[in-house]
Amino acid sequence: MPLTAFSVSRQQELDVDQLLQLFADQYQRPKLRRSEPIPEIWKQVIHADVECPACFAKGAEIVRATSSKVTGEAIKQAYFRFPGGHHAFCDFAALPPGEAPEGLVQFSSTARDGLSRAVRDLVCRGIQLGLLDQARIRSMREWFHQKKLSAVFQVTLDPQVFHWVAAVQAAAWPVRYQPRWLTVNHELMGVPGFQMKTAMEVMLARRHESLLAYLSERAVMLRPLVSRIEKLLNANSCKLVFDPTNLKAQYDVTQELARFISTHYDPVHRALGRGYFDVKASKPLMAFTALLLFLSNWDLNKAASLFAQVASYRGTVDQNLGNVMGLNPFHDYDAWAALKALQEIPIQEFDGYDLDHRAKEWMSEAAAALASGQSF
Ligand SMILES: [Zn+2]
Repeated sequence: MPLTAFSVSRQQELDVDQLLQLFADQYQRPKLRRSEPIPEIWKQVIHADVECPACFAKGAEIVRATSSKVTGEAIKQAYFRFPGGHHAFCDFAALPPGEAPEGLVQFSSTARDGLSRAVRDLVCRGIQLGLLDQARIRSMREWFHQKKLSAVFQVTLDPQVFHWVAAVQAAAWPVRYQPRWLTVNHELMGVPGFQMKTAMEVMLARRHESLLAYLSERAVMLRPLVSRIEKLLNANSCKLVFDPTNLKAQYDVTQELARFISTHYDPVHRALGRGYFDVKASKPLMAFTALLLFLSNWDLNKAASLFAQVASYRGTVDQNLGNVMGLNPFHDYDAWAALKALQEIPIQEFDGYDLDHRAKEWMSEAAAALASGQSF
C-alpha cells in the first residue's frame, strides 16, 4: 500500500500528513489530532480525487498512523488503501502495507547516500527551473503502466531447465578464453598437473555450442542473476507478466545517458566512488535519466541538453521540491529479459541430456570419456 498518492485536483504527490494539512488549511481549521476522525466530506473528496501512484486506481482511503499506547512510539506509518483493488499489474498489488515497490524511487529529503542526494538536487533544480514537475513525473508512470499492459508474456520456464542452463553456462564459461585449437584426448591425461576442469569446460563448450551462442547473442549472463530469476520464477509461475524486452530501446539509451552523466557530472561522479557506473547500484540515477529521456521523446541529444540546463543552473534551490516519487522502469530488466530468453530456448537443446547433472558429474563424465579413448 502506498505511503504517498497523487491528488489529481492538486496535481501533487502527497503523503497522508501533507494531504491532511492541506485539507486543514483549505477548511481553515487546526490540523487534525491523532485521535480525531477524518471528516466525512474530506473522505469523499479523497475517494474521488486521490489515485494510486502506480496504476491510477481511484477510491483511496486513508489508514492513519498507529502508535504504541505504552511508549507512544510510532508502530505503523499512515498510508493509502484502495479497497476497490489495484490493477493486476500494479506494483503495489501484492505488497504489504507501507512497502514500496523496488522500481519506485523516492527522491525525498531524507535521502542518505551520496548518489541519492546528488540526484535529488538535480530533481529540485529541474523543478525550480520549471523543466520538471510532479504532473510530468506522474505522466511518465502512466506511460510505463500503459507499456506494461501492451506487452505481456506468460511465465512457463521450468525451474529445472533454468538451473541446468545456468550451470552449463557457468561451467563452460568463458568460452572465449578456452584454447580453441585444443583437442582434449587421452594422451593429455598423462601430462603431470593436467587440469581435468579444462577438459570438462571444453567438453561442455563443444557439446552445447549452439546453446551458449544463443545466450551470448542475447547478452544473457546468468551467474549474477540466478537468485533474482529464482525469486521471479517462484512468485510468477504461470502468470502473465510484463515483457521488459518491449523497452529495450529505452533501456539502452537510458544506460547510455546515465553513463555519460556519471562520467561528466562531478557530484554524481564523486558519489559513485571511482566513477564506476553500475545499473543496479544506480537506481536513482536511472530513474532521473529515464525521466529526462521520457520528456525528450527518448532522444539522447535532447535529453543531454535538458540535463545540461539542469546541471549548470547556479541559482538557489529549495531542496524540499524533490519530495516526489520517481520511477526506474528498468528495475529487474536484465533478470526478466534473461528469464524470457531462457524459456524461448529451442527444446532440442535439452534433448538427451540429464537436466539433473551439474559440475561434479560432468567432471567425472569427462574423465571417463577420456579414459575410454574418446576425444573432444
Ligand atoms: Zn495501484
